[in-house]
Amino acid sequence: MKIYNTLTGKKEDFIPLEEGKVKIYVCGPTVYNLIHIGNARPMVIFDTVRRYFAYKGYDVTYVSNFTDIDDKIIKKANEDGSDAGEVATHFIEECNKDMDGLGIGKDMIHPLATQVIPEMIEMIQTLIDKGYAYESNGTVYYRVRKFKCYGKLSGKNIDDLEAGHRDIKVAGEDDKEDNLDFVLWKPKKEGEPAWPSPWSDGRPGWHIECSVMAKKYLGDSIDIHAGGEDLIFPHHENEIAQSEAANGVPFAKYWMHNGFLRIVNKEGEFEKMSKSLGNFLTVRDVSEKYPLEVLRFFMLGAHYRNPINFSDELMESAKNGLERIKTCLTRLEELGTKTGAEGMSEGEQEKIKEAEVFTKRFEDAMDDDFNTADAVASVFDFVKYINTNTDENSSVEYAKTLHDRLCELMGVLGLSTDTGSDELLDEEVDNLIQERNEARKNKDFVRADEIRDLLIEKGIILEDTRDGVRWKRK
Ligand code: AMP
Ligand code: ZN
Repeated sequence: MKIYNTLTGKKEDFIPLEEGKVKIYVCGPTVYNLIHIGNARPMVIFDTVRRYFAYKGYDVTYVSNFTDIDDKIIKKANEDGSDAGEVATHFIEECNKDMDGLGIGKDMIHPLATQVIPEMIEMIQTLIDKGYAYESNGTVYYRVRKFKCYGKLSGKNIDDLEAGHRDIKVAGEDDKEDNLDFVLWKPKKEGEPAWPSPWSDGRPGWHIECSVMAKKYLGDSIDIHAGGEDLIFPHHENEIAQSEAANGVPFAKYWMHNGFLRIVNKEGEFEKMSKSLGNFLTVRDVSEKYPLEVLRFFMLGAHYRNPINFSDELMESAKNGLERIKTCLTRLEELGTKTGAEGMSEGEQEKIKEAEVFTKRFEDAMDDDFNTADAVASVFDFVKYINTNTDENSSVEYAKTLHDRLCELMGVLGLSTDTGSDELLDEEVDNLIQERNEARKNKDFVRADEIRDLLIEKGIILEDTRDGVRWKRK
């Protein structure tokens, strides 16, 4: 299995720190808003990485944090007249709903920054004791020049960085020994949430959170650290400086970074989707139009290190592709439940053997730095093979074996294999809603309620709007 490692700039064989185990840390979102589909990309990608490791038999521990204390959260709380804790709790709940829709597994740890304040204070104290950090008027800074390997992840040269920083002065950070130094702990300002510490009542800087959460839940050295490529510098560079100086051992062996999700701008060019550019679509926006597994499938259609351009056409194509696979699964389900030939014929046994090539190609693609684009292509080829090599005379066992294999690959990609065969079609829902409207008009409330209950039972939510009744699937 090969992984492209940002630290070395090469694809390398994956060798776990501990036989049969893999420890992964992925930087999660700052929770002051609904997540946008760019934020969802690392979630989907690294969840798929996690699933593939599990498929290969590894015991995976996966940690992804929520940054629940930050300037932006405090600003949002002030705007809303609430407090930072409430804002964070609310958007964590919303993010969890989006992650459910995206098929992000439950088998992960999601720590909050505010849950590890004592551990952060402890690591900062260690850094001070070792001479890597210093306090000045209640603020604690990291002494960047003291860490000799600074720049090893991003390839940045410390003198170039110094030149770039010369003119930049950040308000309230006048006491730094060096412009390169970054904040580990800052004193509170009026009205801000704060925790007591040996230096001031205040709160941690952003970078220290991840170093501490990785240490607490995974240990001093981890196999994989991941996030979007915008985090390479300064966030991940600073995490390395903190963790390696404090713990005295290499931090992460492999650094993985996903490329940006982009969207077209007014000039017709694609640019990074971001909150600050205001060009974002939330996961929630997309869920109004498509089941979220279509968004997941769209993302898996590109290599994770390449940029991916969001468009309606590509989403439509993802939707159609997913439907093709589901139709194949439905067919196999039907063949697998019909009465008739039970056991496999010799010819079928040969075909099952022949079809192993698709699983092999899937694995080869995933073994090559998680090339989900090629893995998805092998799933499509498998579907084509199934469609041309099954018919009503196929045996139950043959259909079931093909079905299970296809389901297994879908599972690695985090896609549901629920074909919704007992689900109502859109058209049937529309007809029922119309019948319900008629019933209400005719004061036949019993029938109207019956229809509403049936729809609820089938997972359809009705909304009364000014333009009539709208519906969506739960
Ligand atoms: P943030 O809340 O901005 O810290 O972002 C959370 C995660 O989303 C980080 O791993 C970012 O690198 C990632 N991210 C943000 N915007 C994009 C984007 N447009 N495409 C891909 N990843 C992104
Ligand atoms: Zn982080």
